[in-house]
Amino acid sequence: MSARGTASESVDVVVIGAGLAGLTAARDLIKAGLSCIILEARDRVGGKTWSQELPDSKGTVDLGAAWINDVNQTQVYGLAKQYNAEFIEQNTTGNCAIQDASEKISTFPYGGLPPFDSAAAEDVVRIRDMCEADCQALDVFNPKDDTLDVMTFEEYLTSRGASKTSMSTATVWTRAMLGQEPRDLSALYFLNYCKSGGGLLQMRSDRKGGGQHLRVRQGMQLFSKGLASDMPESVVRLSSSVSAIKNNTGNGAIEVHTNVQVIQARKVITTVPTPALKGVTFTPDLPAGKRTWIESTTYGYYTKAMMVFRTPFWIHKGFCGLTQSFVGPAGVIRDTSSPADDKHILTCFLGGEPGFAWATLSDKDREQSLLKQIGQLFGAEDLAAKEFVQLVTYEWIKDEYSGWGCPCTGLPPGVLSKLGSSSLRKPWLDVHFAGTETAGEWKGYMEGAVRSGERAAKEVIICLGT
Ligand SMILES: Cc1cc2nc3c(=O)[nH]c(=O)nc-3n(C[C@H](O)[C@H](O)[C@H](O)COP(=O)(O)OP(=O)(O)OC[C@H]3O[C@@H](n4cnc5c(N)ncnc54)[C@H](O)[C@@H]3O)c2cc1C
Repeated sequence: MSARGTASESVDVVVIGAGLAGLTAARDLIKAGLSCIILEARDRVGGKTWSQELPDSKGTVDLGAAWINDVNQTQVYGLAKQYNAEFIEQNTTGNCAIQDASEKISTFPYGGLPPFDSAAAEDVVRIRDMCEADCQALDVFNPKDDTLDVMTFEEYLTSRGASKTSMSTATVWTRAMLGQEPRDLSALYFLNYCKSGGGLLQMRSDRKGGGQHLRVRQGMQLFSKGLASDMPESVVRLSSSVSAIKNNTGNGAIEVHTNVQVIQARKVITTVPTPALKGVTFTPDLPAGKRTWIESTTYGYYTKAMMVFRTPFWIHKGFCGLTQSFVGPAGVIRDTSSPADDKHILTCFLGGEPGFAWATLSDKDREQSLLKQIGQLFGAEDLAAKEFVQLVTYEWIKDEYSGWGCPCTGLPPGVLSKLGSSSLRKPWLDVHFAGTETAGEWKGYMEGAVRSGERAAKEVIICLGT
């Protein structure tokens, strides 16, 4: 990998972004015999996968993506096998804890229902099953339903008579999945996001086939590092931020301008997240539909705070580590320990409003607020404080190249149904669009990123007739 190229170069294809979408696209292009350069703004590969060793060099934490599965995430699982990932199965043995709106804490076995009163429990099941049925009715590649896209997810829930407890439960979903509140998202967008991961239940599950089933001991950046190191020398150009794409002819002559050079290409694949794409100048400008989409996407607040402990005291007390809270600061907590490294970690998901509030605290207060919540949830306030080692975190909301947020953008009402989901991924002149947001299946996830990269590479290979 190099940080600088020559002043002016010419290749078949420039790929923008060395995340999973860009790297898999480039892999397939090179395999098809095309010359290719990947321009990456950061000084590392991996994009929203970023793994860091803990200070004592024993164990890795994922500041970005952390889970895959081996059932329906075939492409990313293939990469995991290719690069000799050591899997850690998510622990679902034991109790979960839930903190309700009055901060009362109750426990229940993993896979069961929280012990709400019977009317509340019945309504949570009704709303959950309704969301599941409505999302399953959508076509992920072409989700069209004007009635769902005129309202927010909150309005959808209200119009279906969701109780307060059901609304709070659904808020845990949107915060944990997108860092947003139900009122921020189009009902169609959120339900389609669920469908893209196989459905709400599959996406929320930590069991086999679910969205949070397997972690990788070496960290998820393993795949990007592996893909990059398998590329011929000088394909990946780090610290090369693309500022402009000039496609004046639409005739196989396209100029890509970076902070260091201009590259001529026959085709470009961009994998830049849409909020960051606003910083790239297109000549001529993008068509109205794409421009509207890019200007409409939103992020909320979404940060993972990894709390490292000396011992897994929650396991000793009969918990699996999964918790939910209607009040926060963490909406969801999951065990992300690596027993082989003797590392005992609870990953706290700070999402939506409670996340924004947590972010205003000093570092010390952030730590203390999470320790207090963990102690309360597991009935172990003294132990949590005594066993605590350190907090490791990264705020993607401060990261220019993710577009100031993560894990995936949302859309308000009125965009998706009107523009159609293909308008984002449709090629424009000689520019092709990849990145997890453009995926049909597992949009917002690593699997979606890989599939989008493969799809865009296929489009280019067909166009260039190799
Ligand atoms: C905290 C967090 C938790 C997550 N959890 C999970 C999970 O458990 N499971 C899962 O499957 N997914 C998860 N995700 C989502 C997953 O990480 C992403 O869907 C996936 O990595 C996106 O890959 P991508 O290639 O589409 O985009 P990115 O990884 O964002 O790659 C785009 C690349 O483009 C580069 N770039 C941006 N602008 C420019 C420019 N102007 N010029 C050049 N380069 C540019 C960026 O630096 C970046 O490297 C999580 C993400 C985060 C942040």
